Amino acid sequence: VAKNSGRNRFAYFTSALQEKALRRLVLLNELRNALALSEFGLYFQPIMDLKTGKIVKAEALLRWHHPKLGMICPGEFIAITEETGLIVEIGDFVFREAARWVKHWAKISPEGFQVSVNMSTVQFQSKSPFMAEWFAYIDSLSLPGKSLTIEITESLLLDIEKSVTEKLKAFAGKGIQISIDDFGTGYSSLSYLLKFHIDYLKIDQSFVKSLDTRNGNLAMAEAIVIMGHKMGLAVIAEGVETPGQRDLLASIGCDFGQGFFFAHPLSPSEFEDFLGRFS
Ligand code: C2E
Ligand code: MG
Ligand code: MG
Ligand code: MG
Repeated sequence: VAKNSGRNRFAYFTSALQEKALRRLVLLNELRNALALSEFGLYFQPIMDLKTGKIVKAEALLRWHHPKLGMICPGEFIAITEETGLIVEIGDFVFREAARWVKHWAKISPEGFQVSVNMSTVQFQSKSPFMAEWFAYIDSLSLPGKSLTIEITESLLLDIEKSVTEKLKAFAGKGIQISIDDFGTGYSSLSYLLKFHIDYLKIDQSFVKSLDTRNGNLAMAEAIVIMGHKMGLAVIAEGVETPGQRDLLASIGCDFGQGFFFAHPLSPSEFEDFLGRFS
């Protein structure tokens, strides 16, 4: 077994890096056809009302079912699709698929049920992010805009480009709600919250993780909840993994919770089952 000889360590790092680079290259190549081959699908993670314990929303999360490598999570491929621009086409699939499932579950989902869709900054910056087609599509399903939420990150709102503002306005005009994902990890310039029509803040999981061990983060979470409420926004905590975290979040008035404590992201059929049991 290799001790810490410089040479062995070098060899170890090189092969680990090579392996990573190789896998990235394989993914990069195969991503181009993955959409056409129908290898993408959505999973749904329940979002619970912390007061009633019932499911009220869900987040749509993209999964790549690779024929040889199995299920691949977005952490491994979203960045590649952003660099190549593929995210625009894939994002189109995600939006339509999410809308289709919401419609499919209309009869068994609770009143006001919403599904949120992640949208990357690259999609927003693209000339044609398919918005007009999306609006026509949800009309064709007779699905009200209010059934859908778009999750964006703080960095998008720092982009004062007029086109971004207009796109956000178009979503709001259609009744589609806007959520700030991973809130608290960006540039924390709060002025943008006043400039845009925002509906939800999602407290980043890094704050939730150490909620019950470090006081600092409880103060942070509480501050976000108070500020959000004062501004008329609802607050969702991400990454809730323990009953202690759930209880603390409920005690500071956080509206909604999402995380492994309630449920992992679920396949559509598992999610349907969950809807039946927790609405
Ligand atoms: P996100 O939007 O912040 O989504 C939450 C991520 O946290 C998901 O990872 C989810 O599985 C994970 N998570 C949920 N509960 C817990 C928990 O209790 N503990 C821990 N440790 N993790 C939890 P996932 O599905 O791997 O997605 C990662 C990121 O990829 C997402 O972060 C989002 O930024 C991006 N993403 C996912 N789907 C899409 C998509 O359709 N389009 C775009 N543009 N980005 C997407
Ligand atoms: Mg999200
Ligand atoms: Mg998040
Ligand atoms: Mg994120």
